Amino acid sequence: MLPWRGNRRIPEVASVPVPTQPAQTGKPAESMSQRFQNFIAGQWVDAADGRTFENRNPARPDDLIGLFPRSGGLDVDRAVASAKRGFELWRSTPAPERGMVLKRAGDLLTARKEEVARAATREMGKVLLETRGDVQEGIDTAYYAATEGRRLFGHTVPSELRDKWAMTYRRPIGVCGMITPFNFPMAIPTWKIFPALVCGNSVVFKPGEDVPHTAALFVEILLEAGLPPDVINLVHGYGEEAGKPLVEHPDVPVISFTGSTETGALIGATCGRMHKRLSLEMGGKNAQIVFPDASMELALEGVLWGAFGTTGQRCTATSRLLLHRDIADEFLTELVGRARGLRLGDGLSDDTDVGPLINEAAVEKTLSYAALGAETGDVLTGGAPVTAAEMSGGYYFEPTIVAGVAPGSRLAVEEIFGPLLSVITFASADEAFAINNEVQYGLSSSVYTTDVRTSFRALAELDNGITYINAPTIGAEAHLPFGGVKMTGNGHREGGWEVYDFYSETKVCYVDYSGRLQRAQIDNYDD
Ligand code: NAD
Repeated sequence: MLPWRGNRRIPEVASVPVPTQPAQTGKPAESMSQRFQNFIAGQWVDAADGRTFENRNPARPDDLIGLFPRSGGLDVDRAVASAKRGFELWRSTPAPERGMVLKRAGDLLTARKEEVARAATREMGKVLLETRGDVQEGIDTAYYAATEGRRLFGHTVPSELRDKWAMTYRRPIGVCGMITPFNFPMAIPTWKIFPALVCGNSVVFKPGEDVPHTAALFVEILLEAGLPPDVINLVHGYGEEAGKPLVEHPDVPVISFTGSTETGALIGATCGRMHKRLSLEMGGKNAQIVFPDASMELALEGVLWGAFGTTGQRCTATSRLLLHRDIADEFLTELVGRARGLRLGDGLSDDTDVGPLINEAAVEKTLSYAALGAETGDVLTGGAPVTAAEMSGGYYFEPTIVAGVAPGSRLAVEEIFGPLLSVITFASADEAFAINNEVQYGLSSSVYTTDVRTSFRALAELDNGITYINAPTIGAEAHLPFGGVKMTGNGHREGGWEVYDFYSETKVCYVDYSGRLQRAQIDNYDD
């Protein structure tokens, strides 16, 4: 196992319970050491054994945002028992009424957009412009899901027999376990929780341990919007201690996970054994491919945003730049100049372009790949953490570009999840498309060209869930399906209309009013 594997470093020694009065809500107090709680069975509560973990600001690690419950199996058991009660109530609530709760959640998110965005930037580092977008994606998802409460269509289909009706409708499934990562602390939970709720399911939510505050604000908003308390349960904590028991719980028939491919494989094994319905959204190694006929300005803007936005910590981040050899030198000279001009800093500051990485382990991981780049390629810019005194000890890393990367090498195929761009050159569309497809992941790809044939070949031949033409690898919209192929996903999609299939069971109904036994495939055929 590589030294940086697993960003989640669970402290060896249990943190000491803090003897404070339990808070009554998930809200932060004025005090910097505010203690937050789980939301279980309609109450804000501590972890059963009173343990906590710290949540710190990656831009200024001495900024302690709060202490959060370090939950375990007992907390998960209680949350699932509550969600089972919630399911019985919620499943019989008419879907349009369920949709109205989500409409109000969208309204509240809109009203609190700036506050939530600031909280998200403070705990995970990306710039405010991006956390505002993150919250907006949650708002868009809320409004889409709200109207789905008045659709949730089934089919009415002609029967092959006389005097017989055939139709389908959607039934809710039960308690859904939602396990989410740190990089989109609002959008990703809403992609899962809103569709699950409008379909009539209840939820146990285990957010990324680096972003518990945004999760607490989200649950607060759902409750304020009128969601009955047992329908949503929030369990904070580490993956192995709180996530694993949720996945293994026999009363949780649905698991939706977004995170690394390694964790997804573990969860997939458990869900396969227990016959659970599982949606996996995992890693990526996304490429931007630039042909000589493209607008260079557009392609430069696209790769700068795709590679260094969210400090490279997007599942759809541009991790590979595939340049046609005829334009490579000129393009890289310009790109390096622009990358050097990016301003690193606290995401809450208006003049910051690139915020910190999520934690120290992410810095170590990016550094190990930069070192590999120095050995095997040509580091054109960056390559080191930024430790200047004015950076307040934040987890900053220079935007890094490594040229001369060989197709198939580790820098060309492994997900880095940091601000490091690997550059590979190609001589033809065939070669570029083959390089794009050689990785184990298949989330997003981007092609810059003005040639219509190259564009349509790319749409057909690139093995990705999403392909952009003349736009960067990032930029998904909430009303379209989102997901990847190969080791990025397991065939399901979030967002858009497809996700509602995942959160509902299709019931097929036949009504025979002929008054006699009719045998399909037999009585209506003369043998
Ligand atoms: P991660 O896999 O470390 O953690 C994700 C979540 O899983 C966290 O809540 C964590 O606590 C939990 N977890 C960890 N081990 C677990 C276990 N054994 N059982 C149950 N839960 C467990 O991922 P991360 O570092 O938070 O996020 C980065 C990864 O997420 C990257 O690989 C990125 O590509 C991926 N990601 C994918 C998408 C997508 O839609 N495809 C979107 C965002 C992020």
